[in-house]
Amino acid sequence: MRKVVILGSTGSIGVSTLSVLAEHPQQYQVLALTAACQTDKLFAQCMQFQPRYAAMVDIDAAYQLKQLLQQAGSKTEVLAGAEALCQLASDSEADIVMAAIVGAAGLLPTLAAVEQGKTVLLANKEALVMSGELFIKKVQQHQAILLPIDSEHNAIFQCLPAALQQHSYSQSIASYGISKLLLTGSGGPFLTTPLAEFEQLTPSQAVAHPNWSMGAKISVDSATMMNKGLEFIEARWLFNCQPDDIEVVIHPQSIIHSMVQYSDGSVLAQLGQPDMRTPIAHALAFPNRMSSPVPPLSFKQMRDFTFSEPEPERYPNLYLAIAACQYGQGATTALNAANEIAVAAFLQQKIRFTDIHRVNAACLEQFAQTKVCTLEQILQLDQSARHNAEQYIRKHC
Ligand code: NAD
Ligand code: MG
Repeated sequence: MRKVVILGSTGSIGVSTLSVLAEHPQQYQVLALTAACQTDKLFAQCMQFQPRYAAMVDIDAAYQLKQLLQQAGSKTEVLAGAEALCQLASDSEADIVMAAIVGAAGLLPTLAAVEQGKTVLLANKEALVMSGELFIKKVQQHQAILLPIDSEHNAIFQCLPAALQQHSYSQSIASYGISKLLLTGSGGPFLTTPLAEFEQLTPSQAVAHPNWSMGAKISVDSATMMNKGLEFIEARWLFNCQPDDIEVVIHPQSIIHSMVQYSDGSVLAQLGQPDMRTPIAHALAFPNRMSSPVPPLSFKQMRDFTFSEPEPERYPNLYLAIAACQYGQGATTALNAANEIAVAAFLQQKIRFTDIHRVNAACLEQFAQTKVCTLEQILQLDQSARHNAEQYIRKHC
């Protein structure tokens, strides 16, 4: 019986994780569930899975949850505040920690799990974008097992030689005969929208992804392709490679989830439904396999497979992220922070869709050369970049 902690259980990835775990009650036990503030949803999850602990960042919401659980006769112990998330992520009984908080807020609890040498299933890409080098060093130092949940990185991981899967992060991919990692992306909902319409695009249009059902922030990131940019940076750290080793390919059908090209000319791809329960089941069972609720892919009904290059005018945020990856850790931390502020402002209809790139570009220009090494410096830069982005929005948008 492996004990699982889910950070961000009420979100899209959290719910998909619970749906996979529900199929395998003999192998996995839910030890803890956490959320920011959605009391009703977390209450329902606690009633179904009866975890030992539940935690909410919002103190009032935690108090409400405690009352509800007590009234329902549940034995789940409720914790409150951001610190409680780190405590649960590093609980001595936890075997697996699913890191599925959205944004920079996921960094500290995910690192807490890494520092206890847990098996960490990483969906929270922003944590790695902010702190890649430091994060991977901690993984090595504490012998944590890091398994990618992001579908592209999970696909690449599945296409790697077994030896590299076991000894990630130390040897270069070239030493295993790999010449390129091919990151695929659908191009989002605006793949064919005329560029002249971009200024008027609304949040509801941006979150309506053609293939994937996801949280609001990552849906907007998919529309700008900043998501692929963050994934580019994520791949650079996860697979210990250089920006030149990674190429982004648009594949609107979202059936090929990414590919690995070898120096002998072979290309290995992982295919599947656009459903996160496949990478989640893969990582939970690794190195074995187990069933998931995802229907099998039917090649009889398969439509065309098409590929193209992402246009720089359509997806300027993708190219900002690639540039940030080349600058280094300070640039990626600042860009991630600016993007979180810009996307939140766009979702609140305070700025236009096209302003997201303007905010991000201004912030990257300001902090591109900033050097950060320690966690304190990273967190400080994250705050400065947020402040800078907010100021830019007030003055220019
Ligand atoms: P979501 O918005 O649906 O859920 C986010 C979860 O994090 C919720 O449980 C929420 O309560 C919690 N949360 C939010 N703010 C928090 C805070 N300040 N402190 C603690 N908890 C907080 O997001 P999602 O779509 O499930 O994405 C989660 C992460 O997984 C993101 O980093 C995203 O990029 C990544 N990811 C998601 C998908 C997907 O299909 N949804 C695919 C690949 C990667
Ligand atoms: Mg992805």
